[in-house]
Amino acid sequence: MKECKRCLLRESAENATFEDIRSRIDRLRPEEKADAQLYERRLDACRTCDHLISGICMKCGCYVEFRAAFRQMKCPNVSDRKW
Ligand code: SF4
Repeated sequence: MKECKRCLLRESAENATFEDIRSRIDRLRPEEKADAQLYERRLDACRTCDHLISGICMKCGCYVEFRAAFRQMKCPNVSDRKW
């Protein structure tokens, strides 16, 4: 995979991975899922972050599009938490 700083998966060529994440998000229970506005705000913050590489947060190793989908989840960067 070509490295892309500050790219989300859905903006890269990793369509199969993104579709897998999308389907996992679709299966979350409504009470555990962030609403659409919160989700997009979180991803906007990730897009400004130096720790985002090709859709993966280098602070935790998660795909941010998956991590951000959980309402209770937080940005893992404790020294500069963006969401
Ligand atoms: S450190 Fe926080 S803002 Fe940065 S990519 Fe990770 S989750 Fe997103």
